[in-house]
Amino acid sequence: MGRFDGRVAVVTGAARGIGFGTATRFAEEGASVAIIDLDESAAAEAAGRLPLVDGAKAVGIGADVSNGESVDAAVERVVTELGGIHILVNNAGITRDNLLFKMTEQDWDLVMGVHLKGAFLMTKAAQKHFVEQKYGKIVNLSSVSALGNRGQANYSAAKMGVQGFTRTLGIELGPFGINANAIAPGFIATEMTDATAARLKMDVEEFRKLNAEANPVRRVGFPEDIAAAVAFLASDEASYITGQTLYVDGGAKLG
Ligand code: NAP
Repeated sequence: MGRFDGRVAVVTGAARGIGFGTATRFAEEGASVAIIDLDESAAAEAAGRLPLVDGAKAVGIGADVSNGESVDAAVERVVTELGGIHILVNNAGITRDNLLFKMTEQDWDLVMGVHLKGAFLMTKAAQKHFVEQKYGKIVNLSSVSALGNRGQANYSAAKMGVQGFTRTLGIELGPFGINANAIAPGFIATEMTDATAARLKMDVEEFRKLNAEANPVRRVGFPEDIAAAVAFLASDEASYITGQTLYVDGGAKLG
């Protein structure tokens, strides 16, 4: 028996990185999984690599989470092709880092569009089904950057916005058997942090090493670390937890 047998989990931005790690964990524990990402062929290819348990299915769907029509069509496809929807992980994300005085209006809007509007649109489309069936689990990806990070005024504001959004979902949706929580990762080794290394003109391994040395647990995080926390919050063991943000960062922001 897996914790997610018979459940359908949707993970956005899951063609790679934390999203793919999370989709993999759901598949390992019995769920059918929909991978939503910008590029349908990358999403389908990732869905094909999931370690599905007998009877479970996977689908890769191309959709832009910041576009309402695209989101509604994607969620309807999930319900039709996988037979329902029980878990939503709002993971899709981008960075457009710059110091405030150089940050463009377009880069502000893009980051808000994917993280905040994307989570809003996906959640709105999914909650219709969750409320009807009186069951649903929502996990949103925030970040330690929500607490402030040089060069990330847009991303930091979006990620703190995700925490406020999550608390409000907890209040509004709790009476309908729906839990909503957020995870705030610290440094996780993915293409997103590799791109930060490139922007800082640093070697990827050197960048990871420096971040590991500065962390209380002396290592960087991996997608599996976040997947484990997401899976707990999306499980029935966590049904008395809602509206919370769990920092999964090796204690990075303790000091
Ligand atoms: P990643 O490796 O860059 O993966 C993000 C995925 O989201 C990519 O596949 C990307 O597709 C997809 N995506 C971007 N815009 C999208 C859109 N509009 N619609 C659908 N999909 C979209 O990032 P990650 O490191 O795994 O991060 C995942 C989440 O964790 C993000 O929300 C991020 O902010 C958060 N997070 C990450 C870290 C970290 O250290 N890595 C720390 C804290 C929080 P394309 O490749 O086609 O752009």
